[in-house]
Amino acid sequence: MARLFILDLDHTLIYGSYAEKESAELLFQHNPFLKVYKRPLAEELIRICQTKGDIIVYTTALRKYAKTVCDKLAIHPKALLSRKNCKIIHGKHKKTVKSDWVTSYKDIIIIDDSPNIWLSNDDNLTFLVPEEFRGQAADIGLQKIINLLKRY
Ligand SMILES: [Mg+2]
Repeated sequence: MARLFILDLDHTLIYGSYAEKESAELLFQHNPFLKVYKRPLAEELIRICQTKGDIIVYTTALRKYAKTVCDKLAIHPKALLSRKNCKIIHGKHKKTVKSDWVTSYKDIIIIDDSPNIWLSNDDNLTFLVPEEFRGQAADIGLQKIINLLKRY
């Protein structure tokens, strides 16, 4: 049975910044104030996930923004879940694992800098948690995860 990767966007693969400039590579300018930077190795991580399973992108961001990020990073997810797919608990957006994912996939690997944003913690979930990306060109937070996924 297949494997599912659930990818977070903000602070995992990208960083949206209101500052004048960050050192990482600019992915796109979302609006006059917000620039979105690509995390080093983001595309390599996506490529590995794409060869080893299906991808779902799950973000607490708004859908239109998330769609642009997916397009710019060439992610072709089976599904894109955004803010409207989150549960709100005590005013905070939370992510939940859908039951049909659990029945359709043997392994579910969640790559997210904020594991505490997830309500579910099933046995067949694996959390890979990179440190938070904040726009630094020297960031190597994805390297460890890539090395791990190469052995999958
Ligand atoms: Mg995040």
